[in-house]
Amino acid sequence: MTTETTTRPDRVGIQLESQDPASTPIAWHTLELDEVCRRLETDPERGLSEEEALRRRERYGPNALTPRAGTPWWMALLLQFHQPLVYILLVATVVSALLGEWIDAAVILGVVLVNAVVGFVQESKAAEAIDALARTMVAEATVIRGGRPRKVSATELVPGDLVRLASGDQVPADLRLVRIRDLRIAEAALTGESVPIEKRQGILEANTPLGDRVNLAFASSLVTFGSGSGLVVATGDHTEVGRISQLMSSAEDLATPLTREIARFSRWLMVVILGLAGIAFVIGLIRGDSAADTFHASVALAVAAIPEGLPAAVTIVLAIGVWRMAKRHAIIRKLPAVEALGSTSVICSDKTGTLTENRMAVVQLKAGDRFYKVEGEGGSAQGAIRPVQDPDEGESSSHDVDPLPPRVIDCLTIGLLCNDSHLVRHADGRLDAQGDPTETALLVAAAKAGLFAEDLQERLPRVDSLPFESEFQYMATLHDQGPGRPRLVLVKGSVEQVTDRCDGIDRDAIQDQAAHMALQGQRVLAFARKELPPDRHHLTHEDLRDGLEFVGLQGMIDPPRPEAIQAVADCLRAGIQVKMITGDHAATASAIAGQLGLQGTSGEDGRLRALTGAQLAQLEGEALADAADRVAVFARVTPEQKLRLVQALQSLGRIVAMTGDGVNDAPALKQADIGVAMGLAGTDVAKDAADMILTDDNFASIAAAVEEGRGVFENLTKFIAWTLPTNVGEGLVILAALLIGAVLPILPVQILWINMTTAVLLGMTLTFEPKEPDLMSRPPRDPKSSFLDASLLRRIVIVGVVMLIGAFGLFKWEILRTGDEVRARTVAVNVFVFVEIFYLFASRTLRRPLWKVPFFSNHWLLVGVVVMVALQLLLTYTAPFQTAFHTGPIDLTDWIAILLVSAIALMLVELEKTFTRYWEAAARPHP
Ligand code: ADP
Ligand code: MG
Repeated sequence: MTTETTTRPDRVGIQLESQDPASTPIAWHTLELDEVCRRLETDPERGLSEEEALRRRERYGPNALTPRAGTPWWMALLLQFHQPLVYILLVATVVSALLGEWIDAAVILGVVLVNAVVGFVQESKAAEAIDALARTMVAEATVIRGGRPRKVSATELVPGDLVRLASGDQVPADLRLVRIRDLRIAEAALTGESVPIEKRQGILEANTPLGDRVNLAFASSLVTFGSGSGLVVATGDHTEVGRISQLMSSAEDLATPLTREIARFSRWLMVVILGLAGIAFVIGLIRGDSAADTFHASVALAVAAIPEGLPAAVTIVLAIGVWRMAKRHAIIRKLPAVEALGSTSVICSDKTGTLTENRMAVVQLKAGDRFYKVEGEGGSAQGAIRPVQDPDEGESSSHDVDPLPPRVIDCLTIGLLCNDSHLVRHADGRLDAQGDPTETALLVAAAKAGLFAEDLQERLPRVDSLPFESEFQYMATLHDQGPGRPRLVLVKGSVEQVTDRCDGIDRDAIQDQAAHMALQGQRVLAFARKELPPDRHHLTHEDLRDGLEFVGLQGMIDPPRPEAIQAVADCLRAGIQVKMITGDHAATASAIAGQLGLQGTSGEDGRLRALTGAQLAQLEGEALADAADRVAVFARVTPEQKLRLVQALQSLGRIVAMTGDGVNDAPALKQADIGVAMGLAGTDVAKDAADMILTDDNFASIAAAVEEGRGVFENLTKFIAWTLPTNVGEGLVILAALLIGAVLPILPVQILWINMTTAVLLGMTLTFEPKEPDLMSRPPRDPKSSFLDASLLRRIVIVGVVMLIGAFGLFKWEILRTGDEVRARTVAVNVFVFVEIFYLFASRTLRRPLWKVPFFSNHWLLVGVVVMVALQLLLTYTAPFQTAFHTGPIDLTDWIAILLVSAIALMLVELEKTFTRYWEAAARPHP
């Protein structure tokens, strides 16, 4: 390397060229580790000191990417004009100007501008809301400072920091790896290569391509296997991902199946309308009308019939859904999930921590030939461990506490030392647990026998470990028993995995005992040990293949969450199947599933039947789909089986939500219609693959999100069903006028007025409509069904026809009565708006009668209606509006006629609802 060696550290710390945009970056992969440490002025064992880290933090700033400027605002605004309707309007403006109709030209242009600004503001608000949510998920990193590991927000990292990596983590900054333990990292985001890269030590050629720099780990890539540690060499914008981020596409795709369907529908509608307008133009010319008049009418038709606000409104409604779900602990990462949630028909959930409280407490222990009862609370060292005669009775046989036999102490000690969690002891005897609840339960059990890790660590220091992974279902640690003495391996894990590796035991008998404990809903762990030669420094899975000495069992309980029991009941009522997918034992799983009220095939003993991953592996095709459909409990499931389950359920047409937290769950999360990751316990890999993240890891939050999803979808349907009749009605009025050669009952500028004001002031308020009470007692929506059912189509036609007859009829009547065209048009415009207002009230509920909806439950709607009525009065009676929109004052008789037409529309819609309810009830088979 060239110049950097001459640069001296300055007052505040080191001068890092790679953090200085002006100089060439250091090729860290070409340097020996010593040299790396020297340049970073750091220690590969102890990391930086807190003070030094603080100084560097000030100097180099946070480890975060500068937000890239997305589409510039003026561009976003311009894009609002890039719509077919706007093109038509702009043409209309120009033609009107050419014809000398300056007011019309100005009004049309004004409407185009207002529309663009409103659309722009709404869309950027929606985008902002989604961005803000994305930012709430802050990544964490484990950093070692002054020799002590500590969890910090990834933004706190500085060059020189020593960072630990574990399977499932997102790499928080660019690192030069110091320690590597079967470390595999997926760098797809950076290199496009989806297969994880095996990392290795060593120095590399300067020109090694990015994807082959195996001694480095890059920010934003994901650890898929193993563990390691590394020194931070670049942070924030100076990382590789920071450099290329300018090139990466940023905007999340906002399209969902529904928005695409609506976009298709709009395009189709537009072609039809332009065709009709063209035909109308030709007919008019043939009949000998003036070209200007015919052109006017054609433009009016096009403007009238196109539902311009629809696609934007859908996106906005979905964004509101995102926000509502966030308030209920579900963060949406992909907009289409909001919609899919509304039609979810199966939820597959983890057991531990999601359906249960994850507050484990050891209650039973088996060592030697005896069972022991563990008394006292799960969070305290108080409580005795006593032998029991019959494990079912749980009655202690003796009340004086005898010293515990060595086997029991050994079993507790393994649980204590083969453990990655910690207890903090308070003076009053209370214990604070940090880490995995399964493990802290073992620490508490040991504490009840007076055993604490601090007291044993000196005597049996840990040399190495194999951390717990769901795939292996065990954990092991290697301990030093003193110079020259054999190394001690301690193992804990599932009963099957541990006993499989033990010698000289009656495996069946032990598994029977474990099953007995599991039937009471206990999670059972088995404990074993083994000795290895004194010179061993590393532990491998191979070491644990066989020759273990069995020591004992511990059974712990983890009660179901009360709110999960409620949520399961809600889901079942809503026609949503709930399935438990767990790595735990079949008997434990089915006992807990029973307590939760899950429903599925059950065995002769009345307990829910559980299928194990091994049994699933035997099934294929229809048999697999059938089992997936009927069974509610899946135990000892591997991540790979999760994927097969999702696929099997999807083959039956189900919309599947699947939870996951581990690295290996990512494929299943991606395959599911809604992949749900755990915000607290989940790995970054799982979060990255998920559509939705639960901030509280609680099953009830999934049910809540489904409810919100249904609500969003329903309000959207209400909006669409409300908005389309206006377009139908306006289109029909113009078409009718053209065909019979009458003057236009409404002018293009008036149509624009109606469409623009009512969409925002009336239509959008439907999206604030509270959820209907029967929302969660209906079956899920069929995602293949169209967004408009037969009943809604009928209503659209009814209201459209009432608008046609009402507007046209009153227009004619007014001409006959007064001979005043301006007045007659004003009546027609008011017919449209007031029918819309009345119909708005009917649209507050899709199926129920209007009077079942509490009148004041949606304030926005009432405010919108009041403002709209005020605007109509301005339009009708004030001079500026009269000039701009060609309107004039009308009298009380007119108003009575207008309100009469509106009331008729409302009545017909309510009649339609009543008939539909009646037909639906008649069609439903009687029980
Ligand atoms: P779950 O779906 O309930 O979260 P896991 O995959 O976490 O299941 O656990 C599966 C099995 O692995 C458990 O039944 C238990 O026997 C064992 N196990 C769980 N946690 C640990 C741990 N920290 N150390 C050793 N074994 C464990
Ligand atoms: Mg678990």
